[in-house]
Amino acid sequence: MAVTDRRYSNEDSAACHTPPTSLAFHSHMQLTDLKWSEVAALDRDTPVIFPVAALEQHGRHMPVFTDSLLCGEIVRRVESRLGKRVLIAPLQWLGNSDHHMDFPGTMSAPPRVYLDLLAGQFENFISHGFRRLVMLNGHGGNDVPGKQVVFELRQKYRARRDLLLLFATYWNLALKNPAEAHPGIKQTRMGHACEWETSMVLRLAPHLVGNLKKVKAVEFGNPFEPASRGWIMGDRSVPGHIGDPRHATAEKGEALFQVFTDGAVAMLERVLKWDGKSWEG
Ligand SMILES: [Zn+2]
Repeated sequence: MAVTDRRYSNEDSAACHTPPTSLAFHSHMQLTDLKWSEVAALDRDTPVIFPVAALEQHGRHMPVFTDSLLCGEIVRRVESRLGKRVLIAPLQWLGNSDHHMDFPGTMSAPPRVYLDLLAGQFENFISHGFRRLVMLNGHGGNDVPGKQVVFELRQKYRARRDLLLLFATYWNLALKNPAEAHPGIKQTRMGHACEWETSMVLRLAPHLVGNLKKVKAVEFGNPFEPASRGWIMGDRSVPGHIGDPRHATAEKGEALFQVFTDGAVAMLERVLKWDGKSWEG
């Protein structure tokens, strides 16, 4: 637009009388709240967190938005600990959930589309000059494509020694076995709409959890481990969950949130401390 355009110059002079917004007024930094000029003023070593989750079936007792609700809560807790030291992109709720497509309500980006979607978001911020990019994941189906994205982008930007491209799934970041978070926890690994996930939704939004008395346990089984077997949810579970949600309580959920948040904060502290070039971190 022309600077001499009266409409815009009037707006500009009116703006001079309103208090200037600045990052000083924010206690944390969500990308959605910032002006482009505020992003432009940021230190390019600020870690940028991209929360990625899913919208997919979670059994008959849990809402389809479970992974996004849980990942969003962990990001909120991380944000309250790290404040303006990190920039947080909005949660990407569309995940790679093709293996749940036999259950109505599930939405999924086809895997190759999902690869490009995640890579595109990282490349947007590489193009804006940021160097420390972290996907914080809350859905098992995103694990393989997320790792492929950081691998491929490192090849593409191979001349850069200053890029830190990370993909991390929150339950793998725990500093101790999450089963030790609360003495009553029975499950020893992440399932699906299981004791762990159901406990956390009970802590966060109990009105969204169905009648657990009607739910039966679905065993994890051993699908030719340690080989990795291709699967769809129908191979493993009729109701759509894996694990025993009947053991879930809100108290366990709070304990799990704390363990997962501590792990995510510890990882991001390492990202903040990184010297900008070393392999070690
Ligand atoms: Zn889940």
